[in-house]
Amino acid sequence: DLWQGIDFSRSKPEARVDGSTGVKFGDVAGIDEAVEELQELVRYLKNPELFDKMGIKPPHGVLLEGPPGCGKTLVAKAIAGEAGVPFYQMAGSEFVEVLVGVGSARIRDLFKRAKVNKPSVIFIDEIDALATRRQGIFKESSDQMYNAATQERETTLNQLLIELDGFDTGKGVIFLAATNRRDLLDPALLRPGRFDRKIRIRPPSAKGRHDILKIHAGKVKMSDSVDLSSYAQNLPGWTGAKLAQLVQEAALVAVRKRHNSILQSDMDDAVDRLTVGPKRVGIELGYQGQCRRATTEVGVALTSHLLRRYENAIVECCDRISIVPRGQTLSQLVFHRLDDEAYIFERKPQLLHRLQVLLGGRAAEEVIYGRDTSKASVDYLADASWLARKILTIWNLENPMVIHGEPPPWRKSARFVGPRLDFEGSLYDDYNLIEPPLNFKLDDEVAERTEKLIREMYGKTVSLLRSHQAALLKAIKKEISGEELDFILNNYPPQTPVRVLEEEDDP
Ligand code: ADP
Repeated sequence: DLWQGIDFSRSKPEARVDGSTGVKFGDVAGIDEAVEELQELVRYLKNPELFDKMGIKPPHGVLLEGPPGCGKTLVAKAIAGEAGVPFYQMAGSEFVEVLVGVGSARIRDLFKRAKVNKPSVIFIDEIDALATRRQGIFKESSDQMYNAATQERETTLNQLLIELDGFDTGKGVIFLAATNRRDLLDPALLRPGRFDRKIRIRPPSAKGRHDILKIHAGKVKMSDSVDLSSYAQNLPGWTGAKLAQLVQEAALVAVRKRHNSILQSDMDDAVDRLTVGPKRVGIELGYQGQCRRATTEVGVALTSHLLRRYENAIVECCDRISIVPRGQTLSQLVFHRLDDEAYIFERKPQLLHRLQVLLGGRAAEEVIYGRDTSKASVDYLADASWLARKILTIWNLENPMVIHGEPPPWRKSARFVGPRLDFEGSLYDDYNLIEPPLNFKLDDEVAERTEKLIREMYGKTVSLLRSHQAALLKAIKKEISGEELDFILNNYPPQTPVRVLEEEDDP
């Protein structure tokens, strides 16, 4: 046997051991429920004998499940850190080897070392890499390499199951694993007695994002004037990892600009870098292009501010506009998100206001350039058509019409009724709109009504902006903030003649 006598335990990557991870629950935010549940493990690790005496069995294994970057590794480290015990960490992929027996030897070794140094924590990240569902069908495969790899993976998985089953109470070792693909895991691993606890780690809510930002801001020099809550509010879906990266990026920007601490502008720059990309040097629009671009962007922003002001519309206000090209975009228009709840039950008036905002770009061009409009506002127009169509069809807010499209898959399940809440309260209420034409007559009718709705809203928006032409002209700049926009609106009320601006220019 070729492999005989070779000690694989030497050729393996060592499990990374941290005497003390130094991570505490105070370093983790936005996943309070999970932390609450995991506290019990800390109490156990601090005093396993007590639990033993009381006859309380600690969980065999704990599966942390959730998307990447939400703090699974962090919270596992915090358990070890809080209890002050060693932390043995390996990634699932490190067990996957083509050489027979290597993976299972690594598993044995990992558990052995953790037991010697008990109480301790074992953490296997990306456990799906080593414990994918076994697929009997591939056993027939003629591909020798593939077969060998599959068999090896099975041996490794079996070894893991043996270790988990052999885990007695009172051993003082906690086994944690993380995955973002629970669906791929072998069912044997999920059987009771193996992973007794399955804890979902979800992306943080707006409040969670705020708390996470506070933690990371505390590690750098952040100016007190930076409004962290506004970033939390405006970055839905951002994970802890992304927010940590944001603070790091902002710190780099601040250093580059020789600021003494991180300023709001550094944070804005960092957000832009992580979303649309860094500023493009060498690409500048010419004066004419800048004017066109600024006109459409200001038109959109101004429409939302005007609707808020005069019609109490529930639409976002604008935080800032910039027509500095970045990444793939020529300009950025940043809106301030409303509270999550505002989006859940949007009603028709609110959606029509939103439609007007999207039409504001083209409307502004018409006010300034007359019929000589350009393609500059075409993206907003596309969004507007889409929105109008949704108002009329899937959301069904006009006269009830036949709903187009397939219901989403979860709707079809008999066990489920009622709208499903996404992680931060937004509803998955968008039926798939790539529908087969149910009925050509109906399709024509929808097209006709969409057009009518858009024309009507467009007309309203043009007159709104026309009466604020002075403010519109005043706001067309390379960069402008939401506050400046409001300031301009206060100083140039409706019907201010444009002449006033010319008089200002040559006193
Ligand atoms: P996962 O294991 O879920 O992929 P990590 O724990 O590796 O995510 O997260 C990477 C980094 O992102 C962490 O080290 C931490 O700096 C930051 N982070 C992620 N989630 C959180 C959180 N909930 N609270 C604070 N920081 C977080």
